[in-house]
This record gives sequence, structure tokens and C-alpha cells, in this order.
Amino acid sequence: MLNPLTILLVTVLADAIAMAVLFSLRRAKIPGVGYWIAANALAIVALIGFALQGYASRWLTHIAANMLFALALLLLLEGCLRFLGRVARPWPAYVGLVPVLAGMIYWTFVTPNFNARVALVSAYHASLYAALGLLMLRACPANRPRYSFYFLASAALLLCVGHATRGIMYGFHLLEQTSLMQVSVSNTVFLALGILAPPFLSIGFVMLAHDRLAERLERLANVDDLTGALSRRAFLEIGGALLNASSRTGLPVAIAIVDIDSFKAVNDTYGHAAGDEVLTHFAAFVAGELRTCDVFGRLGGEEFGVLCPATRAAGAVVLLERLRARLAAAAPGDLPRGLRYTFSAGIDEHRPGESLAQMMARADRALYAAKAAGRDRVIAA
Ligand code: GH3
Ligand code: MG
Ligand code: MG
Repeated sequence: MLNPLTILLVTVLADAIAMAVLFSLRRAKIPGVGYWIAANALAIVALIGFALQGYASRWLTHIAANMLFALALLLLLEGCLRFLGRVARPWPAYVGLVPVLAGMIYWTFVTPNFNARVALVSAYHASLYAALGLLMLRACPANRPRYSFYFLASAALLLCVGHATRGIMYGFHLLEQTSLMQVSVSNTVFLALGILAPPFLSIGFVMLAHDRLAERLERLANVDDLTGALSRRAFLEIGGALLNASSRTGLPVAIAIVDIDSFKAVNDTYGHAAGDEVLTHFAAFVAGELRTCDVFGRLGGEEFGVLCPATRAAGAVVLLERLRARLAAAAPGDLPRGLRYTFSAGIDEHRPGESLAQMMARADRALYAAKAAGRDRVIAA
């Protein structure tokens, strides 16, 4: 049979590999990854401490090793909280370490009792794994792949059940044992379950981190950096899908191509940075007035596109006129550097069978008509 020492050393190896894999993600600066790496490092030290039982002081091999191992688990949990953007430290879990420490000292030095120690530590670990599993289930996102969340939740809940079973078996004296290094079937099974923890959890963390990287790249490709509006590419893609959906339902779709007036003069007079501020202001202003179903993108320079589902051209004219009036009425303090600016818009609606590009070309011609007529106006094709 595998002896406990071998199992502990294999777990050290599993932890080291997990740490190396997580280390590869260090430069991506994903919140939580540093905690996960530190947790694996602490676990390695703790496991070596356990392995030294019989060769070193019990303060080291029983008390310090157990506390470090519990702390490693706490860091895993805290890493997940950081990853999910929560900054509050899980203080109740840290405070829970105090009774564990007191119990460990009492049942090691005052009334040595292996079963009681196992029951205590297992209860603590089981509760942390339960917290981790529930956290992952609750944090499951609606708009991202959920697989890694379910994977981690399952791993955590499995480990929770393993620790709880161990705690109950030893706590209620269904199993009797006097030392961690004792060779018995039950001891081997429970310790072997522990080998699975580092790779299982680390694979889950790596999956989470990779999805975060994918999300960043998708955002870079789909969202315009300066204004937060959709990029031209994403606008065309989402707009195309919207037209397809509307063709099936028979609902109208209106488009507005909107261009800031005499924007070059803003750049020339106040500088490029002031121009950027006007662009950012305009995008936030328009986005704030649109419905969530409307599609808003930056087509290039100071030109933007708006697609309004279930709306006719006349409805879009009303919307854009309202925007124009609100921008004109804005208090100087609400304008970028107090700069008053205007926009022109060309509007049309989708005709059966035509492409987004054809519809945009007509709205563009209406925009040119608005510019030719003197700017600061909305014209429907
Ligand atoms: P019109 O009323 O006819 O639209 O005139 P305009 O000056 O707004 O249009 P024009 O096409 O002559 O100039 C657009 C300017 O927008 C030129 C370009 O340098 C500037 N521009 C394009 N992208 C950016 C950007 O990201 N930031 C800033 N600050 N300026 C930009
Ligand atoms: Mg312009
Ligand atoms: Mg332009």
C-alpha cells in the first residue's frame, strides 16, 4: 500500500506543477492569480512540514504545518474573491483560524488526540471549500462561458464532501488512528483525495484566467478604446445580425449616421486632446439617451452610427432631434472644456432585401445633404 509519506510528496509535486502553470499567467496581471500562486507555495511548505513528522518538533510538523495549510486554502478563496472584483477580505474565515489553532495546540500538547485534531481541521477545510463552491456558483456569469465556474464549483464541493466525511469518520470514532503517518486503507484514501486538490483547482483557475484574457481581447476588437462605443467592425456585424432578425419578424429598423460638425476646427483651435474629449463626451451623451436595444458604434473619426430596432425613420428623426436639442441646451459645465459643439445626422430605414451597406449609403447621402444645408440639423433620406 502507498505510504502517507509518498502521498504527501506526490502532493508536493502536484502543487509545484500547479504553481508553475499559474506562474505563466503572472504577466497578464489578472487579479487573484498572485494569491493562487502564493497559496500553492504555502501548501508546499505545509506539506513538507507534515512529511517531517517524527523528525522535527510538533510545533513545526503539527501546529505550523496545519496553520500554513489552512492559510493556503484561505488564499485560494481570497484569490477567487479578487478575481471576481471583490476587495473585502474574508475576515470571518481568517478569524476561524483562531479556534483551529487553539484546538490544535490543546489536542497536540495538553490532551493528545489525533481524531479530534482531524475532525477540527477537516471541519475548517470543508467549510472553506463549501464557501469556494458556493462563491463560484453564485458568480457564474450570464454572458461568458460558465464551464470553468461549474468545474471549480464541482471540484470545491467534491473536496468539501471529502473533508466533511473525513471529519465525521474521525470525529465520531468510526475510524481510529494515532498519527498522520499511520499506514491504513482509510488514511491512504483520504490523503490520496488530497493529491487531487491542487491540479483540480489550478486547472479551474487557469480556465478562469484564460477566459478573462479572451474577454479582454474580445473587448479590444469590439469596443472603441476612446469612446466606449462599438468598433466599426462590431457595429457592422451586430447591425447585419439585427437586419436579418428584423427581416424575419417584419419589424422596421432605422439608421442614423451622425457626424460632429466642424470637428477639425476643434482640433485645430484647442488641440487634439480637446478633440478627444469632445468625442468621448459625445459618445457618452448619445449612449445615455439610447435604449439598450439600440446599436451604437464609432464608424471612424467623428462619425457614428445608430441602429434602432422596431423604429421607423420618422421615429429616429424624433430621437435625433431630441438629442440635438438636449446638446444645444446643455449647461457649459456639462460640456467638455465648456466647448459648445453641434452634429448633423442622416436618417433612413431598412428596405426589404437590402444590405446594411446599401442602407448606410442612403443615410450617408442624407448626412451630406444636412452638411450642405448648413450643418446642425437632422435630415431623412
Ligand atoms: P464637417 O462639419 O463637414 O464634418 O467638418 P469636420 O471638420 O467635422 O470634418 P473633417 O472630415 O474635415 O475633419 C474631421 C477631423 O477629425 C479630421 C481628423 O483629424 C479628426 N479626427 C479623426 N479621428 C480623431 C480622433 O480620434 N481624435 C481627434 N482629436 N480627432 C480626430
Ligand atoms: Mg465632421
Ligand atoms: Mg466626418
